[in-house]
Amino acid sequence: MEPRRSIDFSLLLRIELKSSLLPSLNVVHASHLMELPTKVLIGEGVLSELGEFVRESTGRKKVVVASGSNVQSKVRDIVDSALGSQAAWVQVIAADTENVKRVMQASMGSGCIIGVGGGKSVDVGKLAAFRRHLPFYSVPTSASHDGISSPFASLKGLDRPYSVMAKPPLGILADIDVIASAPRRLLSSGCGDLVSKLTAVKDWQLAARVTGEYYGGYAASLALMSANVVIDGSKKIGRFGRDSVRDLVEALISTGVAAGIAGSSRPCSGSEHLFSHYLDLLAPNSGLHGEKCGIGTIMMAKLHGLDWRAVRSALVNVGAPVTASEIGVCDEKVIESLVRASSIRPDRYTILSRRRMNRRSAGELAGSTGVV
Ligand SMILES: [Zn+2]
Repeated sequence: MEPRRSIDFSLLLRIELKSSLLPSLNVVHASHLMELPTKVLIGEGVLSELGEFVRESTGRKKVVVASGSNVQSKVRDIVDSALGSQAAWVQVIAADTENVKRVMQASMGSGCIIGVGGGKSVDVGKLAAFRRHLPFYSVPTSASHDGISSPFASLKGLDRPYSVMAKPPLGILADIDVIASAPRRLLSSGCGDLVSKLTAVKDWQLAARVTGEYYGGYAASLALMSANVVIDGSKKIGRFGRDSVRDLVEALISTGVAAGIAGSSRPCSGSEHLFSHYLDLLAPNSGLHGEKCGIGTIMMAKLHGLDWRAVRSALVNVGAPVTASEIGVCDEKVIESLVRASSIRPDRYTILSRRRMNRRSAGELAGSTGVV
């Protein structure tokens, strides 16, 4: 068994960011706030240490544990014995505002909120804690996307179809035993969300050149490093041994931290995420977030002149889908999503703002990359 590892991040750095990374623009950017997780506990069997991990926030107060029913059947005994009588469970049914309200109601008088699960419970718990001004702890039971550490929450019922800014978790506890036993499909999806940083960073660089938007070279490098964990090591990652799962989880945590450093989702989310969000609207129950982002990355990589074949083969190696039919989406919806994706968030300049898609060019792009 590998030793557990604990990572410390400093919290709340306020810095003045100047344009030194892009001297040609000669622009001095406004200050921005960096909010980061303060501690990460990662290792095999660490879930049993959850009580100690959250103790500083709770004292003797109750602890709201937001979780779905599948996850509860898997880990409830361990969590209950770690938290004792302090645990107050709230079942999360969907990632929407109704569930956020229920978690908020249950959290009256509690010391913190813990989101235990995959995407839904972490997103719901994170937004509920943000609105209640309570500390939030993220306990991922799968590694399917980077929301486990980011300051963003992705929910239905908000006024927009993409993530909203909340706060990053105060702490993240990632038990590799639990995450490695999640279905392979979830791990493959996490790889899709990781490779998407390649095109997200390209879009960010493009936007900085065209619009003068702030670009943070450090946050971009951190996100790219995480993407390259999958691109460079896809054959090994695809076997999903314990060490690979750990690399995957650490890479996902780091991309969420990159967003915290950037003060925006820019290093993690570009045109490939806009494509994925539009597909969410057209085909809400088809494909996981990371799967759709991975497919979007193949196409956006081609538009950016990147090696899209390398992206595609890395996704194949980790068992992630690379075609529309593999996620049960018809060709027409892919084409419509390509044409309309940039309308979902007009303030975000990406390659889809520069290379406006029409039905013909969208069909060519999706066809030439093998997506349709
Ligand atoms: Zn994502």
